[in-house]
Amino acid sequence: MADCLFCKIAAGEIESELVHESGGVVAFRDINPAAPTHILVIPREHIESADHLTETKGVLLGELFATIAGLAEKEGLGDGYRVVTNIGRDAGQSVDHLHFHLMGGRQMSWPPG
Ligand code: AMP
Repeated sequence: MADCLFCKIAAGEIESELVHESGGVVAFRDINPAAPTHILVIPREHIESADHLTETKGVLLGELFATIAGLAEKEGLGDGYRVVTNIGRDAGQSVDHLHFHLMGGRQMSWPPG
């Protein structure tokens, strides 16, 4: 999508600290980290949010979560980590391209704010 920040990052048009790249999935460090490890895992395909997922995206979702698990292991998050996806303005979604926040390296609190 022409005007999407994360599409541009996935295409290499905007610089980011990439930590993983495949044909379908890209992961990069969040520019404003909220935890010692804070990585965004996204599909290359433009999907607005998890609210726009359909059953046809099952394989892609599997790859996204396998990527998250692999990165968590690489980052040494064996004691636990959090995966968050915000959907819509009330939840705090600020970029309208599906992304999973992989956060870890500190004790998380619950419920989230
Ligand atoms: P959300 O608020 O759930 O939509 O998450 C968007 C995330 O993207 C925020 O945590 C931002 O800090 C992060 N972000 C925004 N611009 C960039 C960028 N250019 N590179 C890396 N992360 C970014």
